Amino acid sequence: MEPVLTLKNVSFNYGGAWALRGIDFQVHSSEIVGILGPNGSGKTTLLKIMDGILIPQQGEVLVRGKSLLSLRRAEIAKEIAMVSQETHFRFEFSVLEVVLMGRFPHLGRLQFEGDRDMKVALNALEATHTRELAERSIHRISGGEKQRVLIARALAQEPKVILLDEPTSFLDLKYKREIFQLISSLSVDKGLAVILVTHDVDLSAQYCHRLVLLKSGEIFRAGDPASVITSANIQAVYECPVVVDSNPVTGKPRVNLVK
Ligand code: ADP
Ligand code: MG
Repeated sequence: MEPVLTLKNVSFNYGGAWALRGIDFQVHSSEIVGILGPNGSGKTTLLKIMDGILIPQQGEVLVRGKSLLSLRRAEIAKEIAMVSQETHFRFEFSVLEVVLMGRFPHLGRLQFEGDRDMKVALNALEATHTRELAERSIHRISGGEKQRVLIARALAQEPKVILLDEPTSFLDLKYKREIFQLISSLSVDKGLAVILVTHDVDLSAQYCHRLVLLKSGEIFRAGDPASVITSANIQAVYECPVVVDSNPVTGKPRVNLVK
């Protein structure tokens, strides 16, 4: 099967040192890939390159075999949707209005949303369990609710790939679990490829099919959770003493700080 998104030998710098070097990466439909790594290791930069917001100086990014460079912004947005880390709204948009914004790549210039756009937006609210929030102000809902609404907006783009930058930071355990379960169901029900950046190592080991561990802008390890989340790898990358054992219920790797 052809990958939905491919990065070939991608390197990027912001003008100084390389923020990313020699990144090779592929993701297929229905796959959930977690990107891990310390602060400053290049995770957000990598997502922005995957979304075509940043253009690498070396290497190339292909979506379903086509270079991102050959596609216009709206064409990219029909394939790839990004849920950024901190999304702020200057105005008191309703939740429904925010989700309808996701339809922009499908609308012509100066064209208003039609019945089909509304239907897609309502389905996105349904899929993220936010339908009852539709009329609420985006400024007056909880962090967990807002995260689900932002995922709904991304779904409204009807993408093949969804990129999420730390979607579970600042959420309590119940909401973290909800977001991971939502991501899982999107990959199963809609065949979406999901790439998420996260510091929730244990949860990512439970829910992701594959993990990529970044260190200083390079891939330190990539593979299934058990091969990536080892004491040696975590110590080498995060520079702190840990023991990795397994979750007694799921059997997935679990990281324990020991000092
Ligand atoms: P992460 O998301 O893993 O914390 P980033 O991708 O944000 O890491 O940053 C990777 C590196 O690129 C860091 O050294 C950071 O300082 C640098 N960087 C990030 N954004 C910019 C920017 N807009 N201009 C210059 N350097 C940046
Ligand atoms: Mg980041």
